[in-house]
Amino acid sequence: MKLILLGAPGAGKGTQAELISEKYNIPTISTGNIIRAALKEGTEMGLKAKEYTERGELVPDEVVIGIIEERLELPDCKNGFILDGFPRTIPQAEALDKMGITVDAALSIEVDDSEIVKRMSGRRVCHKCGASFHTEFKKPKKDGICDACGDELIIRKDDEAQTVLNRLQVFHEQTEPLKSYYEAQGRLIEVEGQDKVSDTTALVMAALSKI
Ligand code: AMP
Repeated sequence: MKLILLGAPGAGKGTQAELISEKYNIPTISTGNIIRAALKEGTEMGLKAKEYTERGELVPDEVVIGIIEERLELPDCKNGFILDGFPRTIPQAEALDKMGITVDAALSIEVDDSEIVKRMSGRRVCHKCGASFHTEFKKPKKDGICDACGDELIIRKDDEAQTVLNRLQVFHEQTEPLKSYYEAQGRLIEVEGQDKVSDTTALVMAALSKI
């Protein structure tokens, strides 16, 4: 299965990607996580990306396209993969097509802006491994501590209020047009994001079982 997850920042792509990844035994490739790791390590790519991510803007296409090209060549992608956060612009989608990659579906998780703002304020991520939690909807077993690796949970800098509004605007302007792009290819699936993670998962799994 080759799958793209679309949806606003905070729609639950990362959470659903983890669950799909377990069920179908395919890796999740999150450009956001790759960029954050590079930022933390202080690599050249990380330094280039820093100013964009902190403002809630998109990193230039050529940077993320390069990241994806390299990542998809690794052997764990040969049976399929989930792309979480890529493509985010039409040129990125076209680059994927040019790489000769045809996805089975682009699954869009639909959530209203007002709900996104509410959700993002409660989002916490692991400082070390990037796992994602929520103070209300996906509580860690121990407050402020990552279930996966035991490190500290923090608020991402780009989850701060003003940055969230910027990211939503960027989403509507640059990423939402991808829905029409994949609809025209007959590959778009839309799922209404629910309040409860497990309810969204049920809808997602039902949709995926049909492709
Ligand atoms: P995410 O964790 O997917 O919300 O990504 C966090 C940030 O990383 C975004 O706000 C962008 O600045 C950057 N980023 C991640 N994926 C992409 C992409 N495909 N194209 C451009 N920028 C990206």
